[in-house]
Amino acid sequence: MRPAILFPLFAEIRTLSGVGPKLEKLIAKILGHPPTGPRLVDLVFDLPVGVVDRSYRPRLIEAEPGRIATVEINVLEHKPSRGSSHSRGQPYRVMVSDDSAVMDLVFFHGVAEYLNSQLPAGSRRVVSGRIERFKDRLQMAHPDYIVPPEQAAGLPAHEPVYGLTEGLTAKPMAKAVRGALDRVPRLPEWQDEAFVKREGFDAFNAALEAAHNPVHEADLAPTAPARRRLAYDEMLANQLALRLIRENMRQSKGRSVTGTGRLKALAVGALPFALTDGQLMALGEIEQDMASDRRMLRLLQGDVGSGKTIVALLAMLGAVEAGLQAALMAPTELLVRQHLASLEPYANAAGVRLACLTGREKGVGREATLARLAAGEIDILVGTHALFSEDVSFRDLGLAVVDEQHRFGVHQRMKLQSKGRPADVLVMTATPIPRTLALTAYGDMDVSRITGRPPGRKPVETRVLSADRLEELIAHLRAALDRGERAYWVCPLVEESEKIDLAAAEGRAVMLKQALGLPVGLVHGKMKAAERDAAMAAFKAGETKLLVATTVIEVGVDVPEATIMVVEHAERFGLAQLHQLRGRVGRGAGKSSCILVWHEPLGETARARLKTMRDTDDGFVIAEEDLRLRGAGEMLGTRQSGMEAFRLADPVVHADLLAIAHDDARLVLARDPDLKSSRGRALRVLLYLFGRDDAVRYLRTG
Ligand code: ADP
Ligand code: MG
Repeated sequence: MRPAILFPLFAEIRTLSGVGPKLEKLIAKILGHPPTGPRLVDLVFDLPVGVVDRSYRPRLIEAEPGRIATVEINVLEHKPSRGSSHSRGQPYRVMVSDDSAVMDLVFFHGVAEYLNSQLPAGSRRVVSGRIERFKDRLQMAHPDYIVPPEQAAGLPAHEPVYGLTEGLTAKPMAKAVRGALDRVPRLPEWQDEAFVKREGFDAFNAALEAAHNPVHEADLAPTAPARRRLAYDEMLANQLALRLIRENMRQSKGRSVTGTGRLKALAVGALPFALTDGQLMALGEIEQDMASDRRMLRLLQGDVGSGKTIVALLAMLGAVEAGLQAALMAPTELLVRQHLASLEPYANAAGVRLACLTGREKGVGREATLARLAAGEIDILVGTHALFSEDVSFRDLGLAVVDEQHRFGVHQRMKLQSKGRPADVLVMTATPIPRTLALTAYGDMDVSRITGRPPGRKPVETRVLSADRLEELIAHLRAALDRGERAYWVCPLVEESEKIDLAAAEGRAVMLKQALGLPVGLVHGKMKAAERDAAMAAFKAGETKLLVATTVIEVGVDVPEATIMVVEHAERFGLAQLHQLRGRVGRGAGKSSCILVWHEPLGETARARLKTMRDTDDGFVIAEEDLRLRGAGEMLGTRQSGMEAFRLADPVVHADLLAIAHDDARLVLARDPDLKSSRGRALRVLLYLFGRDDAVRYLRTG
């Protein structure tokens, strides 16, 4: 249970004065939170992105255009907008001056009555805002502050600037954050005193205040002391949580699972290829883990198509040989079906019983599967998160394999393991994760990597093309389709709007159908699963030769005949995504190409990304480059990876702190495994503060 001291921080932001449903929604958007229910804690961890310095108080004649300035002026004359108050280009102007120069205060859609009350002609006022030079005149559009001189002392000298979104303006946002800060309870020190002293860190509350009250640009840097302190707090919570989860798994003793090799031999005999060295090495590591009486927690990393699934199958067969069951969990229905189809021949060859469980299995069929599972009449169960359902129980689960783990949270992973006796766990990910991040996302997980080009994969020729040349591209495409090739056309990724994504894809499909005079398939995330499967099946069968898609095809689609991948607005995609998309082609006998179409404006980072794509197809190189270009926060961001993102810490910039947090977590738990000492109790607060309730469950209460 969350400690009472944190209750105020976990109140919803709509409990703040001035925050209604509309503002709540906008703020939720900024915080990357679902539209309802963001908490004060989410708001206080949203640190400023800028600082406004109002301490610049020039004489008007010396004022530097473009700067925020605070000036004391006399109001000379009002010049209301002529004609209708909405007439464009005719804003309401108020002429003002100090003793050095004249300036216009400019108000678009200014209301005379209101402006006359704020700025009566002949009065003295202090105004603060950005001064610009327009033609020969100084002007200040919509001053941020207009106050009588006697109130000027109340103007803030420095103001934090928060990230905004359309419809959300600076003042209500700043007010909401301030309101939230005012309700932050004084929290106990959870850090080691000596460490805090050595680093020169403030206490948590003071650091939080300082982070929200920057004075200089330097205060915004992730290396600023206040931000470092908060980053360290977050990293310690992260490392502590991972350690707790890990130790809990370690404690629940595993069992030694050793196969006879009989089923494995049958399956290997049915493979139309030989396993690569990388696959054999990974399998060896997995089998060694399974054979030890320690519980396995291993991450299997390998590029898309590097052959992880076969490795997983052989490991699962080992469990079956030992009289146990195995489960393979994938993030989507589509992937589950694909796994089933690719595993079936080998499972049949080995004579093991394979079954499937997803959200689509219902009623009697589902009941029957569950009964067979409980009776041990199913050896390997493949499914989606439906495997987590309460009513799913295995007779004896020996190995749980989780595919494309980045779509699942740690919490879900834990749930599968808690089914029955502690099973060994193998997590497969096709998103190569740089070493730095592996530590933060997986803690002390053991890692196997399948490196090198995936078996049977040919290099994909990658071209980067400006959108000006779309016609040329379509002509090229027409020729290729006429030759019998098949192509994907991935549509622009529109930030945060599936609706617009969809419209773009639909529009493109219509346009291409007309331009090519061919049937064109369309798949997108809003489709019913059955419709999507039908569209995919038609493409797979070659009934449609061109498939227009939103990024739903990013994960796991396997159509070896497809040889062309067009990605529109490639500049909007992240490297990991582009790499995943490109991995959809080059799987068959034909020569494949990937065409990355970019539109203006092409930023520097986007340009670097496209160059990386052209230069390499090594997933690990791409991942490291991605990390360098984007920073870790974004890389771990929920959109991309589904992994818990850091809000305050950046594992790259704060790499030194991460290493310390890692050691500190280990030390703390060695001394105080149940966090019962006074520091331990404070650390419990820290865990809850950063939402690591999942980890706290593993502590004995006290
Ligand atoms: P991953 O799960 O890593 O994305 P898969 O296991 O789905 O990759 O393998 C991709 C394709 O490569 C499959 O069609 C699989 O049959 C094939 N494959 C796997 N291992 C080998 C190998 N050693 N040699 C040739 N083809 C292989
Ligand atoms: Mg796979």
